Amino acid sequence: MSDDSLLKIKNLKVHFDTLEGPVEALHDVSLEVKKGQIMGLVGESGCGKSVTSLTSIGLATCIVDEGSIKYDGKEMIFHENKEKNLLLLLISNFLPYFSVFFLFPIGFVYLMPFMEDPLFGFLVIMGGFVLIAISMAIKFFIHSDNREHDKFMRYIRGNEISMIFQEPMTALNPLYTVEKQIFEVMKSHDRLSESSISKSTKLISSLKSPLVTLYNWILYDRFSAAIFSSLLMIYLVVSCMGPGLISSWGTKIAIIFYASAEVNLSCYNYSDDIIIYSFLLIPFGILRSSIMGGSLFSVLRTIPFTFTLSLIYAIILWTPNPVVGTVIGLFLVVSIPLVIVIDFLQLDPNHRNQVIKILEDVQIPNPRAVVTMYPHELSGGMRQRVMIAMMMSCEPKLLIADEPTTALDVTIQAQILHLMRDLRDRKGTSIMLITHDLGVIAELCDSVSVMYAGSVVETGTIEDILANPRMPYTIGLLHSIPKIVHSDEREGRTSLPIIPGQVPDPNTHFDGCRFHPRCPFADDLCRSIRPEMIEVSEGHYAACHHTNLTINSKDVESSFDIFSKNFEGVGGEVIVR
Ligand code: SF4
Repeated sequence: MSDDSLLKIKNLKVHFDTLEGPVEALHDVSLEVKKGQIMGLVGESGCGKSVTSLTSIGLATCIVDEGSIKYDGKEMIFHENKEKNLLLLLISNFLPYFSVFFLFPIGFVYLMPFMEDPLFGFLVIMGGFVLIAISMAIKFFIHSDNREHDKFMRYIRGNEISMIFQEPMTALNPLYTVEKQIFEVMKSHDRLSESSISKSTKLISSLKSPLVTLYNWILYDRFSAAIFSSLLMIYLVVSCMGPGLISSWGTKIAIIFYASAEVNLSCYNYSDDIIIYSFLLIPFGILRSSIMGGSLFSVLRTIPFTFTLSLIYAIILWTPNPVVGTVIGLFLVVSIPLVIVIDFLQLDPNHRNQVIKILEDVQIPNPRAVVTMYPHELSGGMRQRVMIAMMMSCEPKLLIADEPTTALDVTIQAQILHLMRDLRDRKGTSIMLITHDLGVIAELCDSVSVMYAGSVVETGTIEDILANPRMPYTIGLLHSIPKIVHSDEREGRTSLPIIPGQVPDPNTHFDGCRFHPRCPFADDLCRSIRPEMIEVSEGHYAACHHTNLTINSKDVESSFDIFSKNFEGVGGEVIVR
């Protein structure tokens, strides 16, 4: 491995175990990402690009059959040496069966009433449990290497390698704000700075938070606070003075003044009036909107709310006092601890500033407001930036971006690509960019690997691949990019150029080249012998038997056009209008 190599995958072969049998997802993948380099991995859907990336960071559920993945010289594939512990493994598998099928039945028989030795039965059953415990201890010992490797991979993920997923909406947690999600990532990777206040100070301030909340409410919303206090006072007065008060006209006037005649309380004789008077709260809502400012529409808009409020108030006054007292008591018992807990979980000012700084780094406009938002409140481009910010928060050395711009429009796409290149330039982060869009590759990458049907078929610098491709599949991909040309320049073509056919099923067996059913140059050699990667120029490799036929890309494109017309497999023409 060269010194500047950060990630090196060599001859990787993996399969998935499914109910229908194993699915061979990767057949032979070899590629390299150098330090500070942006490497593009390109190919059609179903070629194995995402499986390659997920296997690289140990997140794929596949089984690795062969090959190695080295990050900065350290092996990331764990090959368990089963032969080394074969005897112990057999013993640990055998002991539980021996206990369940032999010791336990004997023990239970001796526990039966007609047997005269229950102690023996008890000891036999206990012996069974001891054997099971021994089996578990042996397995724990055998898998210690495995646990060490898991620990190593957990460290690598996030600290050294991060991944941006294709669809940020499914990758972000919809229940947490942006700041909380970025904070969690930083916390679990130990990237947070010192807190500005100690835990005990924070606890004391949280205990005071219910009173502070109430104080702020009174201070900043005085009108609501005054109305609420008045109504509360009336309720308390009426509750204390009892039904005798009803006969007093003075009280009635006072009640009307406060717009809550429902306080007519005693509710037994004047229940009809309650609803009528409760409507008197409506003018208060209108008055309030007028004072706070706003259009006629905003004033009218308050009517439903005020009406609902007055009804709630009427119901409260109808309800017997003990019930109201119990409800209020329960409300306080639940809400006060909640206010305290929520306040305690608020981010420390230092940590919030750290999150804001990271959002500034990915050029999110107004980061102070964005930190408090939930993913559904952000646009697609903003969500993708938040994902990038989250991944960059741990300052990884390698960023794997799995089709990060697929769901975005071209303007946002350009911004995200610019951002990724900027991150590489400023922080020296290597990037492995997975895409099926050769335009994105051309815009961003230093080197490219082309994948087809679970194998890398061509690799080289961006100039090698775009200006001088040598594998027919790469030439077909480049030829398939729609171009905006005048009708005179179409050279008589009536259909969009395509690679005919489709990527084969992963389980389809090929003796020779996996691309041969779709290749215009396929012959018996291609059908029978698998092509190895050959160096066509310095650092430029292509897996093809006939690289002598692909020197002139224009000729290959013409061959594809003719081949497409006569192709009888799955595929077809896209007619140009
Ligand atoms: S080996 Fe043969 S079938 Fe495969 S790409 Fe080359 S020419 Fe086509």
